[in-house]
Amino acid sequence: MLETIEKLLVLQDRDRKIHRVQQELSHISPERETLRGNAASTQSQLEAAKTRVKQTESDRKRLELDVEAKKTQIEKYANQQLQTRKNDEYRALATEIDHCKAEIVKIEDREIELMEQAESAQREVIKATTEANAAKKLVEEQIGKLDQREESLKKELAELQGGRAELAATVEEVARNRYDRLLKSKGDNVVVGIQHGVCGGCHMKLPAQVLVSCKSQKELVGCINCGRILYYTRDMELTAVD
Ligand SMILES: [Zn+2]
Repeated sequence: MLETIEKLLVLQDRDRKIHRVQQELSHISPERETLRGNAASTQSQLEAAKTRVKQTESDRKRLELDVEAKKTQIEKYANQQLQTRKNDEYRALATEIDHCKAEIVKIEDREIELMEQAESAQREVIKATTEANAAKKLVEEQIGKLDQREESLKKELAELQGGRAELAATVEEVARNRYDRLLKSKGDNVVVGIQHGVCGGCHMKLPAQVLVSCKSQKELVGCINCGRILYYTRDMELTAVD
């Protein structure tokens, strides 16, 4: 194999490793955000449950005030009854008093309903608290693991990138520049083998002349279609070419 190809393959292997680590690193932040989102949503469920408890409680207090107002009203009507001498006025006041009493019964029924709702909302708060705490703990653990993973990947990346310049320096300049240009446009599949007479990058059939010059291993040969650097090894097949 051409020495330049050998060196380029080593460089390409390094670039693939760098790329793989970069890919993995790029997923960490979104994963962390998803985890935080999970914790936040259980927390907001808890807040909603707490709000329901407060709302029920304030509704109940308002009803208590309504009852007090009705009772005051009844006292007022009763006093008026004591003062009046007119029968029809007395009866009208009695009707008002009955009306107020009936209202009080209705309000108190509603109060009982609200107390039941408050109890169930309170149970909901306890459940949501447990869930929010569990989610928080789990998310903290998972984020801790992600942080560790991120740190070790960053370290690995720094090591891989650190040694890359050294590897690149072993490749002669023209070939290196060609490789670097292709790396930018094609990703980390730049130096490709030939199998069954087709380019290992774009899979286009290669003309016989290209295969022959590649096999002679005297200079770098590029794919006429995609420009990737081609190489030939004995175990690759050229049978598709006639
Ligand atoms: Zn190609």
